[in-house]
Amino acid sequence: MSHTSIQTEVRDILEKLGVTAADTQGGTLDVVSPVDGSVVASVPETSIADAGKLIGASHEAFLAWRLVPAPRRGEFVRLLNEELRAGKEALGRLVSLEVGKSPSEGLGEVQEMIDICDFAVGLSRQLYGLVIQSEREDHRLTEQWHPAGVVGVISAFNFPVAVWSWNAALAFVCGDSVVWKPSEKAPLTALVVRSLFLRAAKKFGGVPDGLLTVLIGGAKVGEALVDDARVPVVSATGSTRMGRIVGERVARRFGRAILELGGNNASIVTPSADLDLTLRAVAFGAMGTAGQRCTTMRRLIVHESVYDALIPKLVSVYKNISIGNPITSDALVGPLLDQRAYDGMQQALDAAKKAGGTVHGGERVDVNGPKSYYVRPALIEMPSQTGPVCEETFAPILYVLKYQDLNEAIALHNGVPQGLSSSIFGTDIREIEQFLSARGSDCGIANVNMGTSGAEIGGAFGGEKETGGGRESGSDSWKAYMRRQTSAVNYGRKLPLAQGVKFDI
Ligand code: NAD
Repeated sequence: MSHTSIQTEVRDILEKLGVTAADTQGGTLDVVSPVDGSVVASVPETSIADAGKLIGASHEAFLAWRLVPAPRRGEFVRLLNEELRAGKEALGRLVSLEVGKSPSEGLGEVQEMIDICDFAVGLSRQLYGLVIQSEREDHRLTEQWHPAGVVGVISAFNFPVAVWSWNAALAFVCGDSVVWKPSEKAPLTALVVRSLFLRAAKKFGGVPDGLLTVLIGGAKVGEALVDDARVPVVSATGSTRMGRIVGERVARRFGRAILELGGNNASIVTPSADLDLTLRAVAFGAMGTAGQRCTTMRRLIVHESVYDALIPKLVSVYKNISIGNPITSDALVGPLLDQRAYDGMQQALDAAKKAGGTVHGGERVDVNGPKSYYVRPALIEMPSQTGPVCEETFAPILYVLKYQDLNEAIALHNGVPQGLSSSIFGTDIREIEQFLSARGSDCGIANVNMGTSGAEIGGAFGGEKETGGGRESGSDSWKAYMRRQTSAVNYGRKLPLAQGVKFDI
């Protein structure tokens, strides 16, 4: 596929999905396709002054939207979902072109948006509170949930649209407005989603202006959103480096931050593991999406009794895995995002070698010329968990460690600063249950007989420690997008005080 045909295809999709050339040409932000390194658009950026105005408009939209009954708000999300279903092929393709995912992963990303919209529509008829037993006679004690306000969503390049929908679909049914600051590496898919949103709004008969606004740009415009007191909730997805800044800034003004940050996800392979299944799961978990998922498997902790049966086979899979253009081939491993990602990977490989690691793979592969960065995934046998093994390098590197005893494996597993996703392979119920128990994995996600990636939207998604502690998507994550109110009603004639306190006048 030539540079021109990628540019042409991007333009065709943008036009088809209602994004005008004024929004994607002649601006200051170049959008580069990792597929071949070509510039496919130049998007105008949002100034700080305009960001302030858009946040103001979002606040106004919130004041109106919160009055719309929640099931009616759900009806709007249902219409948005219809637009996503109709636009799935084109938007999925644009995800692949903009961030280099395989066609099936690009489509999977849109499917995730569809799924969370379905979830949110059902949720719009719930959003339930509690009736609590009061200690006072003739009193009713309840807890109810109100819309929170403007929700700021900052998203990462690697899930350019799905992560937005995890937040926005919930926020809309909860009665909030949304200001979205997409990754500066992936503004085109965001502009398409805004266009689909506007189509749904029209079919709905109009939503308040400013219910969804998009800020285009990098950290600066992101910080304008983060610092704005009119934004009570900021949901930020990205690196721990970013989360440290955003978390502190939001806390300074007593806002609520939902932080979804980096992971350093590990799997433990126990003596009772089904090694064929393990091999397939590790291959997808560690090499899928070229190692650029927050839940990518980055460490494999293998019992010494199965090490020699598993690792040579895995090394052979690494040697033979297909690497290529995600658009025109069936290759399983596509490109890294950019040169920075490639340099970061090479630095980690050097550091691992210095720490005594044996590196298999990791070399650059020429697929589409010097402006794109394709690599063979690397498997590194490590003598201990030191240096780069404790960090998240956003590239396909799997560190392999050996263990003798499950307690030692769990200590290694938990012995890194991040706490997103984890898994264990085995059929011994005692070992599995120990891993899932309070003395097991310390992560937000703990799987059994599967890898660390590929979560469903039904469960709450997020992790502990330097992953930030936030939860998004399913289960009761919606509560983070609402304001909790406890309410006591006295329907009697007396005025009993709680805890038996007396104050008779
Ligand atoms: P990044 O941290 O470079 O950028 C993420 C977003 O934060 C971008 O929109 C960026 O513009 C914005 N940003 C950066 N600095 C900011 C600041 N000071 N103020 C406001 N906004 C700021 O991350 P990336 O390279 O786009 O994505 C990869 C990272 O995201 C990895 O660490 C990955 O693990 C993580 N991630 C986490 C999850 C999760 O749910 N835990 C999901 C996807 C990605």
